[in-house]
Amino acid sequence: MLNERQDEVVRAITDDGSFRVVALRTTDTVKAIVAAQRVKGDEARWLGELVTGTIMVRETMAPDLRVQGVLQSAVGRDALIADSHPDGGARALVQRTRGGTLVLGDGAVLQVTRTLPRGSAHKGVVRITGSGGVSASLMAYLQESEQVASAIAVCTVMDGDEVVAAGGYLVQLLPELGEGQLAVMTARLEDFPPMSTFLKDDATTPQTLLAELLYLMPYTVVGSGAVRYQCRCDSQRLRATLSTLPPAELESLIAEGKDLEIECDYCHVEYRFPVSELKTLLAVD
Ligand SMILES: [Zn+2]
Repeated sequence: MLNERQDEVVRAITDDGSFRVVALRTTDTVKAIVAAQRVKGDEARWLGELVTGTIMVRETMAPDLRVQGVLQSAVGRDALIADSHPDGGARALVQRTRGGTLVLGDGAVLQVTRTLPRGSAHKGVVRITGSGGVSASLMAYLQESEQVASAIAVCTVMDGDEVVAAGGYLVQLLPELGEGQLAVMTARLEDFPPMSTFLKDDATTPQTLLAELLYLMPYTVVGSGAVRYQCRCDSQRLRATLSTLPPAELESLIAEGKDLEIECDYCHVEYRFPVSELKTLLAVD
């Protein structure tokens, strides 16, 4: 899953209605996010897995949902936040508090929020336990919050501090599942090589991963799409947010006489609002 390939997600269902499978490559998306957030090492690895897992969860749901995954530190209030949108765009944020440290082992919390276009949201929270990391937490979330049994592997392959590849798969048990098929899949997943083995192999694509997972099980690809790093910030939206500030705050910004500079926490693009523009916001109100 290296560089000449594109990030992609593919969904399939077995023809007997037993399993839904999602396979994805997120290498370039994760590399771009990790670069934008300036993280390395374990933080980069966890962030990559959270981004991959958040996209994967969204792919199992209604197509117009946005999904946000948050890994909350076991200690303090630091967090990793990943957003996945219906158009395939994903972005993420490392939320740091002054003097805080991100501790993502036992006791950390995974929170998944899905949001409809008009804003109604549903949130599920699971505690991270043991050494299963993001994969195990996502499985617990889908089981507890969505009542769907799934096997999940998300992985960021690192070379020292740098991200080399990222991706994963999910196998969900569907209502028509028979005992025989469950036994076959359980045995297969027990012997399945770790996700890192596939990610390190140039020949792997989401399609070949699907074919391995569903070997000798007839299946149909029901959807696929590009995945990419994409921030959602723009100056118009920021301007709209500024226009909701209390007039007194706008007046004090204008009184300072300096351009207002706002940096996006996700992509670090800087937006500049001159005093003259702040004055028009005040006039509109
Ligand atoms: Zn941005």
